[in-house]
Amino acid sequence: MNINLISKTEWKEGLTFKLSFGKQDPIPGESRPTAGSILLMGKNLGEVSLGLENKINAETIRKTGAGIAKWLHGYDDLSIGIDLAGLDSLDVENPVLALCEGLLLGDFKFTEFKNKKSRKPSTINLLGDKKVQSEVDQAIILAEGTNLARSLAHTPANIINPETLSDICEKIAQENDLGFKVLDDKELKEMGAGAIVSVGQGSQTPSRLIVMEYKGKSPDKKPVVLVGKAITFDTGGYSIKTKTGIVGMKYDKCGGVTVAAILQTVAKLGLDTPVIGLIPAAENMISKEAYRPNDIITSLSGKTIEIISTDAEGRMVMSDTLTYAQREYNPEVLIDIATLTGGVVVALGGVRAGIFGTDQKLIDSLIDAGENVHERLWQMPLDEEYFDLIRGGDSDFKNSGGVTTASSVQGAIFLKQFIKNGTKWAHIDIAGTGTINKSAAYCPKGATGFGMRLITEYIRSL
Ligand code: MN
Ligand code: ZN
Repeated sequence: MNINLISKTEWKEGLTFKLSFGKQDPIPGESRPTAGSILLMGKNLGEVSLGLENKINAETIRKTGAGIAKWLHGYDDLSIGIDLAGLDSLDVENPVLALCEGLLLGDFKFTEFKNKKSRKPSTINLLGDKKVQSEVDQAIILAEGTNLARSLAHTPANIINPETLSDICEKIAQENDLGFKVLDDKELKEMGAGAIVSVGQGSQTPSRLIVMEYKGKSPDKKPVVLVGKAITFDTGGYSIKTKTGIVGMKYDKCGGVTVAAILQTVAKLGLDTPVIGLIPAAENMISKEAYRPNDIITSLSGKTIEIISTDAEGRMVMSDTLTYAQREYNPEVLIDIATLTGGVVVALGGVRAGIFGTDQKLIDSLIDAGENVHERLWQMPLDEEYFDLIRGGDSDFKNSGGVTTASSVQGAIFLKQFIKNGTKWAHIDIAGTGTINKSAAYCPKGATGFGMRLITEYIRSL
């Protein structure tokens, strides 16, 4: 989809949509205008609804854009106009940004491996004042980031493994003038990062730690350091998943690809704050080399971990990366994002991601950013007593309690063992929100790119 902003007088002819809204709650039984519903009133005139006037917010405007994008999927190479009149009088910040996000996110389809080529992209001519150009430009960058994360997450494990993911991140880095390096499994082993190495050692393509660096417009500021889990496929290892549970495990890299997309996005937006993206990548497989339950692993921090479940692999790769993050960089804040636990799905479903952490101000800021972009969070507890669930064994602690009790907190309290006193840290568990199994307004079934706009919004607010 191409989006242009032009003045009304430049737009000569063609189908033009006006924005409309319902005035009040209709009487019961009468149909309510839903955001994004479309009414054609002639060859050259259509109406798209923003929903009910008293319910309009950034999210309903996104849905309005998505309604148009969906409608356009039925056409080939269509050029339409959308009259922005009325948007600026709404009590919504950056309404044009929200509309364009809805258009571009709603336009996403993962068709890379389909022989039947998709239709030619449509052109949207926004008819309005030039002063909203920056909202259009920002929306394009943000939606590109989210759609990149979605598309990488959709790509299956026979294409994306830790090595090819590293190549993809290097390309993103080159295109956006980012620093890049990668530690391979030999270097990780030498360094003593036993946790990340052990998870990947059963795979033909062993573990990688991918590093992307955005210097920022104010390079003297301390960096925001992001850690994103990228298990390119999670069989569960010897604690193997079920026939149905294993399907979709290509999506266990959602956190990692989201971090790569954030690095692209902050660079394209030219934000002030330096951002470091660390992506531990591994494929959790079964083979004669694979790690097993009861193995005792020495992590990069020196702490020893007894494996109870080889399926609790995400926290393993994350733990060494959190240690590395604090050792190599001096983070202003440390934020990790991961499809970590089934427990967070039980607790919060697909509506909100769980957030845990050591710094309430950081957590509150992330929650606020999430409300702004409609990638919503809910704070979960991290009381010391939860450590009892993973205490013991023949090591310092275990990688899982082996019970489902508070299992999302087990994951988080495990990660906390690698956080130094004084580090401002937040952990976002997107196991429930990283994918959806039914199409939503501006996201088809599959990867959502959740966290991309949220964390970018947070960094932008600094
Ligand atoms: Mn797992
Ligand atoms: Zn996993």
